[in-house]
Amino acid sequence: MFERLLPSIALPALGATIIRHLRRTAGGERRCFNCAQVFYPEKSEGPGRYFCPVCASSLPRRKSGFCPLCGELYPWEHLPPAPCARCLREPPPWQRLIFYGAHEDLLRKLLLDLKFREQVHLAVSLGKLLAAHPGLSGVTADLVAPLPLHPRRLRQRGYNQALELARPLAAALNLPLLPDLLARGRETIPQTQLDRTVREKNLKGVFVCAEKVQGLHILLVDDTMTTGATMREAAQTLLCAGAASVSAALVSRTPYRTC
Ligand SMILES: [Zn+2]
Ligand SMILES: [Zn+2]
Repeated sequence: MFERLLPSIALPALGATIIRHLRRTAGGERRCFNCAQVFYPEKSEGPGRYFCPVCASSLPRRKSGFCPLCGELYPWEHLPPAPCARCLREPPPWQRLIFYGAHEDLLRKLLLDLKFREQVHLAVSLGKLLAAHPGLSGVTADLVAPLPLHPRRLRQRGYNQALELARPLAAALNLPLLPDLLARGRETIPQTQLDRTVREKNLKGVFVCAEKVQGLHILLVDDTMTTGATMREAAQTLLCAGAASVSAALVSRTPYRTC
């Protein structure tokens, strides 16, 4: 009796499994990078390609209500981009700055997961989201480099989140990636390896430039930006070393005045 019943019970379940498998193998389904929910990714680049519809709707790209020079966020999100008072007084050293969104809600959670909870896989989706930013079409770049972590922190964490974000970004832009272009902490770079001019100009700085960058346009990558002081120092270091221009790409921007 059980043998007779089994096919009628098992076959529909087996059929559903096969159909599910075929749909997955056909490139249809994907698991959300945040909640692991199975979903059908959108074809166009954007959060709907990597995150389920619920999570994707919580990851809007900021399109207005910020300073186009430093990314400072204004409380009035609907306002068209306009330079902030600080940038009008003292323009930043970088040529262009792009960021994906405000450092809040799900984007903030994903970046904290990436940075402090060893969720390194998130760098792929976030790096690709950044790579699809339309503002990058206006950025001149010969190479991509991450902002470095302090060696002590790198040893503790085991990876540099900025480098992990820079990997998919550089690949998408078809640009070379120089993971060690900048180093943090003078003691970690033997001074003898540096060009004399570069060494002299960077002795008092936080960063040192470890490669020849004369005449090159550089795209620096970091996960987030708060005051912009780190990015500013890094850009100035590269410009002092002879870079033709520095642009900055960030996943998120924290409102400057809240820190
Ligand atoms: Zn999700
Ligand atoms: Zn500004």
